[in-house]
Amino acid sequence: MQAFNDTADVAHFIHGEVVRGSGQRTQPIFNPATGERPRQLLLGEVADVGTAVASAKAAFPKWSNTPPIRRARVMLRFLELMNRHSNELAAIITAEHGKVFSDAQGEVARGIDVIEFSCGIPQLLKGDYTEQVSTGMDNWTVRQALGVVAGITPFNFPCMVPCWMFPVAIAAGNAFILKPSERDPSASLFMAKLLKEAGLPDGIFNVVQGDKVVVDALLAHPEVKAVSFVGSTPIANYIYETGARNGKRVQALGGAKNHMVVMPDADLDQAVDALVGAGYGSAGERCMAISVAVLVGDVADKIIPRLAERARNLVVKNGMEPDAEMGPIVTRQALERIEGYIATGVDEGAKLVVDGRGLKVEGHEDGFFTGGTLFDNVTPDMRIYKEEIFGPVLACVRVNDFTEAVDLINAHEFGNGVACYTRDGHIAREFGRRIEVGMVGINVPIPVPMAWHGFGGWKRSLFGDTHAYGEEGVRFYTKQKSIMQRWPESIEKGTEFAMPTAK
Ligand code: NAD
Repeated sequence: MQAFNDTADVAHFIHGEVVRGSGQRTQPIFNPATGERPRQLLLGEVADVGTAVASAKAAFPKWSNTPPIRRARVMLRFLELMNRHSNELAAIITAEHGKVFSDAQGEVARGIDVIEFSCGIPQLLKGDYTEQVSTGMDNWTVRQALGVVAGITPFNFPCMVPCWMFPVAIAAGNAFILKPSERDPSASLFMAKLLKEAGLPDGIFNVVQGDKVVVDALLAHPEVKAVSFVGSTPIANYIYETGARNGKRVQALGGAKNHMVVMPDADLDQAVDALVGAGYGSAGERCMAISVAVLVGDVADKIIPRLAERARNLVVKNGMEPDAEMGPIVTRQALERIEGYIATGVDEGAKLVVDGRGLKVEGHEDGFFTGGTLFDNVTPDMRIYKEEIFGPVLACVRVNDFTEAVDLINAHEFGNGVACYTRDGHIAREFGRRIEVGMVGINVPIPVPMAWHGFGGWKRSLFGDTHAYGEEGVRFYTKQKSIMQRWPESIEKGTEFAMPTAK
């Protein structure tokens, strides 16, 4: 597969056109594997948000009145184009995010799943109907689009996370404005062009690139009816509070610290494979990465030497190399933050079994690389246990039994994903019932729900009421209306002053 080496400025997509916008501010876009800055991002301003919202608002009435099956046909054409161009999109992701190409392909595939789900929108929008709620009177419910809605997305899934939002929102009849991450913004423009090619009317999908200026303008704009956010917890909290204060519907998905429990009866080969893949895959920059291994009873002594050997031998290199298992970290600042946490862990008294710091990759000396790091004897009072590191650092916590494992996880402030490795059906059942986490895997390390099930964490991993995509997503992007109807022939004469009841 060809590497993505475009050098053009990355701009906005408003009313069906790539536009440079009104601002003068720019920001470099790095290739994290080489440290080069092949492109720059044009940062949007308040005026660009105004232009995008005006375009979306003007396009909304016609699109929302388009029959759902015809909207679904546009999504079907988009689905076909995404499948055809999936490798180009994956190469764009690797060039700006750094994740290995096969992982980028997986991300695109999981985004495509949601597009496929959105093609079923006629069935998903079907309402309820009750005949004869009173004599001669019927009552039904419909779900109607909200209007202009916005999505603000993180760097770690520049294709998949936007796809959690816009296919469902658009298929449901809304007009969408995407504010992608500044770190890897090219995937959003690529998808915008494919949507246009699929026949989506101008103004129904817009991209405004930028930073907090754009986010705050979206949160303040009275015509933006709903905001979906995915990113870190402090920003999710801010988006939720500000959006709610401004009268918007908000779903804001935040950070994570995902645990994986390994019971003594688990298949330990499978558990080691799972911890290595889910801990170090995508350099730990996944909201569903496993960052804490909870090792029950004598499991720690059996598997820590094996985890150490695997961590030491990870193949870390440019993600476009076919044998790469782990690519670079997204930015130099993120690399410094991660390596700073490793120093903190040592100061706090955790046992540093494998130290990934200072890794140099031959031929890529300016890339933002770190190796896999493994800690043992981590305790719940340590910052490396409590805080999200978002890097390839796996912390092992030793516990005596299952109850201690469940209590540990339930006491954590985050509750995004969790896994339990066991062969015991009763333990598996109890784990699923008692754990206070939104997405649970039994012998599944990264239980990202399928497109029709919906994605979301608990506690400070999600602010709002509904999960992303699936039927919850359809509910988020539509409002319910109830209609009661009768005809003159069934109306009894006379004015009623009592509360109407079924007659
Ligand atoms: P981030 O919070 O820094 O940025 C997310 C978005 O918010 C970006 O578009 C960014 O431009 C914008 N933003 C950043 N600072 C802002 C501010 N002060 N005011 C307004 N907007 C601001 O997150 P990130 O570093 O891009 O992504 C990594 C984080 O996202 C991790 O915490 C990870 O756990 C989380 N994440 C969560 C999920 C989930 O489903 N729960 C999924 C993916 C990523």
